[in-house]
Amino acid sequence: THDELSATDNGFSAQDIDTSVPHSARLYDWYLGGKDHYAADIAAAQKVLELFPRMKQTARSNREFMHRAARYLSSLGITQFLDIGTGIPTEPNLHQIVQQTTPHARVVYVDNDPIVLRHAQALLRGTPEGHLAYLHADVREPERILAHAQKHLDFTQPVGLSLIALLHFVADDQQPYRIVEKLLEPLVPESHLMLSHGIIENPEIVKQVDAIYRTGGTSVRARTFDEITPFFQGLQVCAPGIVPSTAWRPDNAMTVHDEPAVYAGVARKP
Ligand code: SAH
Repeated sequence: THDELSATDNGFSAQDIDTSVPHSARLYDWYLGGKDHYAADIAAAQKVLELFPRMKQTARSNREFMHRAARYLSSLGITQFLDIGTGIPTEPNLHQIVQQTTPHARVVYVDNDPIVLRHAQALLRGTPEGHLAYLHADVREPERILAHAQKHLDFTQPVGLSLIALLHFVADDQQPYRIVEKLLEPLVPESHLMLSHGIIENPEIVKQVDAIYRTGGTSVRARTFDEITPFFQGLQVCAPGIVPSTAWRPDNAMTVHDEPAVYAGVARKP
C-alpha cells in the first residue's frame, strides 16, 4: 500500500518552485548527475565546483554511504525507516534498498523542498507488502514529523532514523542538536540513527559555498568533527565509528574512493 499524494493535497503547487535561484536539493541532483535542476542551479553548482572540485565525488560517496547504511540496518532486522531530507528521487532510493531484502519494509520520507514533493510519486512506488509515505515538512518541526511518522510506522518497534546530508543545512541558532534529540526521544531501544554531515576542511571555502547557497535561501553550516560527534550523544556508535563516508564499511559496489568532505556514522539507541 502507499499514500496517494498529489502536490495540491499538500497545498503546494508548481508555482512554489522558484527556478530563478539555486536550491540545495537541485544542486545535489546536479552533483549526482541527475536531470532535475534548472539554469540557476547549474550556474551555482559550477561555482561550487570551482571552489571545491571534489563536490561531485563527495555527493556520490554520501549517496553510496546511504546505500550501505540502509543495507546494514536492514541486516540488523530493522524494517521501518524515517528518512528526513530525502532529496530528489535518485535510484536506488532508500525504500528500494531495504525492500529488496525486506519486502514488507515501511519508509516515511520527509523533505521541505517543493521540488522533492513534486517528484514524491517516485518515492511511493514500492513492494505491495511494504508501506511508503511522504510528508512535506521541515526538520525544524520535529513534533509534526513524529506525529505523521507515528501514523505510518509502529513506534513499539525499532526505527531507522536517517538524517543524511541534512544537518549542515540547519544553522546553530535553529538548535540542530536538540532537533536530533527530539527525533530520537520516542524511538525504542535498538532503533538506529544513520547520519552524514559536511565537514569543515577550509573555513574560507565553506564561507564562499554558503554565500552561493544563500542566494537560494539556504545557508550551509558545515561542522568540524567535534561538532558532528555530539549528534550521536546518548547512542552507541557502530564500528567503524564516525568516519569519512568512503571509510564507512566500504564494499565492492563503491564507485568513489577519494577522501570526501562528508563524515558519516551509524549508531544504536541503547
Ligand atoms: N538524504 C539525501 C539527500 C541529501 S540533499 C541523500 O543523502 O542522498 C539534502 C536534502 O535536504 C535536500 O533534498 C533538501 O531539500 C533537504 N533539506 C534541506 N533543509 C531541510 C530542512 N530544513 N528540512 C527538511 N529537508 C531539508
